[in-house]
Amino acid sequence: MTTAIWWIKRDFRLHDNDALDAALKHAQLVLPVFVFESDLIAQPDYSAMHVHAWCQALHDLRARLIDRGSNVYIVTGEVLSVFTQLHDEIGFDTIFSHEETGTHWTYKRDISVAHWCERYAVEWNESYQNGVIRCLKNRNDRQSVFQQRLIKSPTVAAPEEIPIPSAMHEVCAAQDIPIFEQFFKADKYSKIQFETMQIVSETAALNELRSFLTRRGVAYSGGISSPNTAFEAGSRLSPHLAWGTLSLRTVFGATSNAQLHYKTGVDENAKQWGKSLRAFTSRLHWHDHFIQRLESASEMEFRAINPAYRNVIYEDDPTKLDAWINGYTGYPMIDACMRCLQATGFMNFRMRAMVVSFAVYGLHLSWRTIHAPLARVFLDYEPGIHLSQLQMQAGVVGINTIRVYSPVKQIIDQDPDCVFIKRWIPELSSFDSAAITAYETTVLGEYPPPIIDFKVNSKLMKDQIFKVRKSQDGKAASQEVLQKHGSRKKPMATKSKIQMQLF
Ligand SMILES: Cc1cc2nc3c(=O)[nH]c(=O)nc-3n(C[C@H](O)[C@H](O)[C@H](O)COP(=O)(O)OP(=O)(O)OC[C@H]3O[C@@H](n4cnc5c(N)ncnc54)[C@H](O)[C@@H]3O)c2cc1C
Repeated sequence: MTTAIWWIKRDFRLHDNDALDAALKHAQLVLPVFVFESDLIAQPDYSAMHVHAWCQALHDLRARLIDRGSNVYIVTGEVLSVFTQLHDEIGFDTIFSHEETGTHWTYKRDISVAHWCERYAVEWNESYQNGVIRCLKNRNDRQSVFQQRLIKSPTVAAPEEIPIPSAMHEVCAAQDIPIFEQFFKADKYSKIQFETMQIVSETAALNELRSFLTRRGVAYSGGISSPNTAFEAGSRLSPHLAWGTLSLRTVFGATSNAQLHYKTGVDENAKQWGKSLRAFTSRLHWHDHFIQRLESASEMEFRAINPAYRNVIYEDDPTKLDAWINGYTGYPMIDACMRCLQATGFMNFRMRAMVVSFAVYGLHLSWRTIHAPLARVFLDYEPGIHLSQLQMQAGVVGINTIRVYSPVKQIIDQDPDCVFIKRWIPELSSFDSAAITAYETTVLGEYPPPIIDFKVNSKLMKDQIFKVRKSQDGKAASQEVLQKHGSRKKPMATKSKIQMQLF
């Protein structure tokens, strides 16, 4: 009997899982394996939120596997020793997994897995999880690969049976899924509101997708900018796509069906649905676009993708970093967002961009300095999107319009009654919105005064960035970045332009 391993990593699902499907086509027995990798968990960009998400996803996955007469082998430790031990015990010939575009740590781990496979004469078969291309030579190829993988290929149904080696039934049944508290000290997760946090599992993902395409999604266009509405109007699929409890192909397929339904049906909001789902689909394309950037330029984890911006000077004051990440800067909209992130792991795009622009332009913190602390409070941490967005918002990619978000304008536009702010900053609940909006000149009880002068500081940072942007070296380097990493869908802004949302 041939035996294979399905190595679960960022793909906690049975439906539309190419790695699992390939394993079942190859071998008579397939053992699903998940390793709580101690060294990965100890990385500065990983947190209790992420491990909690894996635990939830595993509980759901295990229940679905047991329904199919199967189970999952769960170990804490290091992947290579787990494979060695399993190789001795069950003698598999192939490992099936998805390709992962991750950080330097996961890349190095994958290299060592490849070496281990060579040594043990085991095949390692990696399937595509999305439209991201390894060793991409020409970005113009992306569109056809994307079409082929995500639009033209049908989704794969969840298998009805996953036979595992008989000896492993008892072993798996005796294994508990760890609890995340095992890996972290209590103060590392004390702020997380687990009871209200989004559930990450295949069951939850399919429910989220359904509720978005049948009910919530109508409000998407216009609803995703404010933190008061985005929690409901946004798809909330990001943690599911990040941890693989849902496939991107499933989302594209279901969205395309929904678009057809609203176009040809009699829904009274058909026009609004059309607008919302068009906007949503373009975000789905961005998902791969940004992950591709890290895949093609892995050095961007450590330095700006655009070499011209590598010498920008930051203050990187740890006191300011601490005030920012914990929500005590004296800027109500920033603090509300940071406290909300610490508790829920979610924030809408505009507010994420605003807190990064505040950290870089206002507090003079480098994108590198804020990378790990911010990743830890994003339930949907996806390294490719995260690093690309951090650099974009910090203005060091050189091919996008520079946006510096005014924290006060964002209150006026997105939370004029300060509902969101008061929810997350209880010290401000007795003040009216006019007083809160005038925080720069009003004493607000115990709430701290602004720790910096945003207008003065942001001008200093903008001057630095703009100087690079206008320089000959800056222009030449940006052309290269545009060529290599720019979107092929629409022409990018190549003109040096700073968008003044500020004053
Ligand atoms: C500094 C910063 C860091 C970010 N880090 C992450 C991250 O680690 N993981 C992550 O999934 N998103 C990240 N984003 C992108 C975006 O904010 C979230 O994807 C979005 O807010 C998630 O909400 P949603 O699922 O309701 O998204 P929707 O608006 O419903 O979008 C659907 C899906 O499209 C993708 N998507 C949406 N916006 C973007 C975008 N701008 N770039 C790339 N893909 C996008 C996501 O997979 C998302 O789930 C970041 C944005 C910023 C500004």
